[in-house]
Amino acid sequence: MFNRFKDKLKGFKESVATKIKEKSNVNGVVDEAPIPEKSLSKPAPSAEVISSEDTKAFVKAEASTVQENSSKGGFSFASRAKSLIFEQEVVLSENDLEEPLWELEIALLESDVALPVAEDIVNTVKGELAGKKKKIRTDTGEIAEDALRSAILKVLSKNTFDIDEYMERAEKPVNIVFVGVNGTGKTTSISKVAAYLGEKGYSVILAAGDTFRAGAIEQLEVHANNLGLKLVKHKTGGDPAAVIFDAVEYAIAHHKDVVLSDTAGRLHTNANLMDQMRKIVRVTKPDLLIFVDEAIAGNDAVERARLFNEAVPIDGTILTKTDADAKGGAAISIAQITDKPVLFLGVGQDYPDLVKFDPNWLIDRLLGS
Ligand code: GDP
Repeated sequence: MFNRFKDKLKGFKESVATKIKEKSNVNGVVDEAPIPEKSLSKPAPSAEVISSEDTKAFVKAEASTVQENSSKGGFSFASRAKSLIFEQEVVLSENDLEEPLWELEIALLESDVALPVAEDIVNTVKGELAGKKKKIRTDTGEIAEDALRSAILKVLSKNTFDIDEYMERAEKPVNIVFVGVNGTGKTTSISKVAAYLGEKGYSVILAAGDTFRAGAIEQLEVHANNLGLKLVKHKTGGDPAAVIFDAVEYAIAHHKDVVLSDTAGRLHTNANLMDQMRKIVRVTKPDLLIFVDEAIAGNDAVERARLFNEAVPIDGTILTKTDADAKGGAAISIAQITDKPVLFLGVGQDYPDLVKFDPNWLIDRLLGS
């Protein structure tokens, strides 16, 4: 998952690490591994602290420890002194960061992160790093990674939605309509959400609102049978708004909690199907209109979501096929670009392969090993 994204970011991390090393050398820091923990009587202070009064006492105490170690054949005073300086802090200027940030922006764009989102992330990373004291650790790449992590987390945390909290509070039956392009995983996602809500104890009805495509009703029927759910359907070619309306009526009459409705795959450019969409919204008044698209489509998925949201406002997105996505750009960008939350990520072809969107879960996979 997201392997190309991780690869692309290597250049940025290395570039920051190189700058830190350059800076450290200019400032006279000796680039050497610290001595083992157990020989330290207390943690070494940062280089800044070394000049202060109380550090003289520290150095004196350390000197006697070092002498003791030396007489036992341990570390020399010289190597001890080097390790003291090792924990120095570094301050990177905007100038130092120019090249690494350029590399970061290119890496993000090549990973299909939308331009405004990439710029946002780069600016946050700049704000995190420029002019701030950073402790130099053994792994200099960590400084870059920490800054990147908080920048992406900031983007991902802007639009969130807790479906469980929503379901708990919502008046029943909840009418959820799914829209999107054919083949992106809409029907599979409806079934996964049905299984997810069923697990939580909600009673679910499915509605075969894709009356346009031959075979769509049968496809949903297979899922309904697998999951033991009632499916409300009309004939192919019927009015989808009427199917969904009937399903909601059925749910009211039978005290069911939620109706999940399929609709025909469409693009925002298909005028007839978009009119049909508006009719569904007018007649059945969905509580949630969920746009489904595939993470692997990258920028295309983000652009479709944006245009769709302009035509018929959506309440959120489900991004499918995240398991097969190497780049991660759509998952990072789609919520910010639509200003609507991502509800779930599809991570496989089976019913349990659905993850409730969690910024920390995603960032661990984007940046993790
Ligand atoms: P629809 O035309 O949008 O309703 O798409 P389908 O639900 O029929 O799915 C199209 C294909 O994508 C099927 O082969 C699904 O098994 C597959 N698919 C759906 N969601 C995921 C996912 O999260 N991961 C993977 N790897 N495949 C998925």
